[in-house]
Amino acid sequence: MILISSCLIGAYVRYDGGSQGDTRLIELINEGKAIHACPELLGGLNVPREPAEIIDGDGFDVLDGQAKVVTVDNKDVTAAFVKGAEATLKILLTENIDTVILKANSPSCGNDQIYDGTFSGTKKQGVGVTTALLIRNGIKVLSEQDYFSS
Ligand code: SF4
Repeated sequence: MILISSCLIGAYVRYDGGSQGDTRLIELINEGKAIHACPELLGGLNVPREPAEIIDGDGFDVLDGQAKVVTVDNKDVTAAFVKGAEATLKILLTENIDTVILKANSPSCGNDQIYDGTFSGTKKQGVGVTTALLIRNGIKVLSEQDYFSS
């Protein structure tokens, strides 16, 4: 079974109420080969919500208490991001998941680059909070680009 970021299968869960559904991933859901989850909604955040970025580090630093996640209005949403990561890990541990495909560049789901905390559209090397927790639990996380190119 595959776990996919909800926004990648067409669910309108992005911070701006949008989605980035891909027909190839939606097909996996329709065939019963995949389930989906949105860590930020699992963490208690709503749609739409203020955009958020990780300040002074990446998802690993957030888990270690060395960095935080803040919205563009400077509201600290770190606890919700960590809660969502833990809820996503719980799904992985209770379902028979062997592949994880999470949305690139997200402060929750990114697996290679994330936005740099300046809300200027600039990316930096690093992973999102959920991806960091999954990696720490020995779980490999692919982005949608990784999955399609593999
Ligand atoms: Fe939810 Fe992750 Fe998609 Fe953001 S990138 S909307 S947290 S599934």
